[in-house]
Amino acid sequence: MSRTTLDDRAPTPRRTHLPLRPLWLCRVCAAPWPCPVARLTLCQEYAHDRIALSVYLCTVLHDAAADLYRLNPHDGPDPAALFTRFLGWTAPRGVRAEQVRGGSSGAGPASRPTGSR
Ligand SMILES: [Zn+2]
Repeated sequence: MSRTTLDDRAPTPRRTHLPLRPLWLCRVCAAPWPCPVARLTLCQEYAHDRIALSVYLCTVLHDAAADLYRLNPHDGPDPAALFTRFLGWTAPRGVRAEQVRGGSSGAGPASRPTGSR
């Protein structure tokens, strides 16, 4: 059995679970993109820079919203659902629920806009 020495060197995990546009379904598993595997891959790829991950996903969300609303102009996806699908999962654990609901303390992060829910 040969053992590769990629452990230390693997710079970027290969992204195979890519979106099929304009449907925004995974090309491999057909789940709504980003599928769980794509999310894991993105987390690995952007482990050193979570802000860059959020910026990237904002761009992707913009493209996906344009595509999906073009496909279904009268029955497009719910904007909040799209946000959760593309960006909501990147929030640190434990922060998501409290902050979305408005938080219990007034000492949260400064100038964080409140959601429209
Ligand atoms: Zn997939």
